[in-house]
Amino acid sequence: MTNVFPASVPLPSADVHLGGRTALVTGGGSGIGKACAVALAAAHATVHVVDKDGESAKAVAAETGGRAHVVDLADPAAIESLPAEVDILVNNAGFQHVAPLTEFPPERFALMQQVMVTAPFLLLRRTLPHMYANGWGRVINISSVHGLRASAYKSAYVAAKHALEGLSKVTAIEGAEHGVTSNCVNPGYVRTPLVEKQVGDQAAAHGIDASDVLTDILLARSPIKRLLEPEEVAAAVLWLCSPHTAYINGASVPLDGGWGAG
Ligand code: NAD
Repeated sequence: MTNVFPASVPLPSADVHLGGRTALVTGGGSGIGKACAVALAAAHATVHVVDKDGESAKAVAAETGGRAHVVDLADPAAIESLPAEVDILVNNAGFQHVAPLTEFPPERFALMQQVMVTAPFLLLRRTLPHMYANGWGRVINISSVHGLRASAYKSAYVAAKHALEGLSKVTAIEGAEHGVTSNCVNPGYVRTPLVEKQVGDQAAAHGIDASDVLTDILLARSPIKRLLEPEEVAAAVLWLCSPHTAYINGASVPLDGGWGAG
């Protein structure tokens, strides 16, 4: 038997054309956000790259033919300077702080909620009217395995990601009648600077060698014993923008190597 489809026919799920669409990616200068900006631009979307690190935002904007916005998302006034005419919002910017609850600095806790929950809320307020007016929009929140379950020493991060999950579900319910879907993507550990920094922090918190952190801590609960690549997360984001996934709404898509199955 011979398959009648020539190898040159694109797979339906890879067939995402975003020409004429505008995307805004927060934390687009590095890691997962950068991979998302590249993937969305490759699908012909116009991409706004938002990051507090100006150099990396400008580099990614140059690479994708997009526009850099050097903004600290902890500053609500600065968010008001960002474009409102956005069809695809990728709430990705985030950071980690590892410390036991009893030693967790309260101002660090508050900052993480501000950047990882309040900023996505403010960006939704800013961009949803345009999506509603056009009858089409995609909101993709880069949550985490830690949006669905907890680990020790990550109180602010787990709280913020669980809050982002709730925000995403409300967006899904309110947006549906306007053609707007909202979903979370929930990666396990991804090969990015954020994780590289955590290896040192985890080693200190657990009192073990940095070389053992990957196998004994980070990947201990993942049946697939490798880090996820940023491009694999970006592929899921792109997939959620495709016509084939228009009925996926209010969902959380685990990219966790089977972590959640155990
Ligand atoms: P990263 O550190 O490589 O990139 C994060 C980017 O966000 C950086 O460019 C940084 O400058 C920017 N950023 C941080 N705070 C900002 C602020 N206040 N204003 C503007 N920009 C800001 O991190 P990453 O690993 O690519 O993580 C991206 C997202 O993915 C985060 O929300 C993170 O929680 C999530 N995530 C990461 C992993 C992982 O293993 N790396 C796993 C699950 C979820």
